[in-house]
Amino acid sequence: AQTPATYPDPDSIALRTALGEMHGIDAASIVCGTGSDELLNLAAQAFAGAGDEVLMPRFSFSVYPIAALRVGAAPVEAETREYGADVDALLAAVTDRTRVVFIANPNNPTGTYLPHEEIARLHAGLPGDVLLVLDQAYAEYLPDDGAPGLAMAGKADNVLVTRTFSKIYGLASARVGWATGARHLIDALNRIRGPFNVTGASQAGAVAALADQDFVKCSREENARVRQAFVMRMMQLGNHGVSTVPSEANFVLVRFPDQPTAERVRDAIAQAGYAVRHLPGQGLGEALRITIGREDDMKKVGDAIEAELAGRAVSRSAR
Ligand SMILES: *Cc1c(COP(=O)(O)O)cnc(C)c1O
Repeated sequence: AQTPATYPDPDSIALRTALGEMHGIDAASIVCGTGSDELLNLAAQAFAGAGDEVLMPRFSFSVYPIAALRVGAAPVEAETREYGADVDALLAAVTDRTRVVFIANPNNPTGTYLPHEEIARLHAGLPGDVLLVLDQAYAEYLPDDGAPGLAMAGKADNVLVTRTFSKIYGLASARVGWATGARHLIDALNRIRGPFNVTGASQAGAVAALADQDFVKCSREENARVRQAFVMRMMQLGNHGVSTVPSEANFVLVRFPDQPTAERVRDAIAQAGYAVRHLPGQGLGEALRITIGREDDMKKVGDAIEAELAGRAVSRSAR
């Protein structure tokens, strides 16, 4: 039996079995990690090194360039279209040094989404010896549950899909993620991962969470409903130069007229007791990534944004 005094199952067998059954995947084609962060880093470590290039769209998940740099590879960013990945720009940026392509779908921090046909076109255009890492941290928020991506990983030789318990399952603190792909890819990650990379408590928690698909369904529906209402509210602030980037995730990127306005709104939201993400280092200085919380939280966040923008308009007209 598992006790805190014994080491955890090094192969997360119960968890991989449950994941395999749920998604119709051979458990041997699954590897679990200390969050999907570990698996993203392992993918770069296994397949890229000094002198190589790791390709990603601009405005990608911040772990990708770090994963490249820590193995001595150069992160290369392809231009985007309306804050989302552009397959033509990605394919045009492939060189004979490209070893790994990272793409999150839906994407963090923009929330943008590419239809699977576009992901398939990206895969079809890549040389067979380039690894495509399809990061599905938010797949459970999609109507199709990201199933076409998993199917692609099951067929292709060079596609790794990563998933996490940190987002819709609400277990970020447990640090559990998983990846699936061709056996040679899974074997490569298994050879270089830590032997006890997922704690016993986290394995058990993830297995229990998987069994509660009602919670997942409820979270998906609630997120879509509250996100839509929040986006509508932001659209009504269009006269203040506010706009949103269409999101399929559990957050929305809200754009303000300029960086000082974004910073003032961030501070006003903080005063109301909420933390949102300002990402000037990623070229998004005019925007805030706002997580979709509970309905009453989003009302308070919306109130804070409205008051800050209206306050400025009032003090201006008073002059
Ligand atoms: C949150 C996130 C992850 C990593 O999550 P873990 O907690 O490490 O599993 C990976 N990719 C994207 C795009 C994310 O937003």
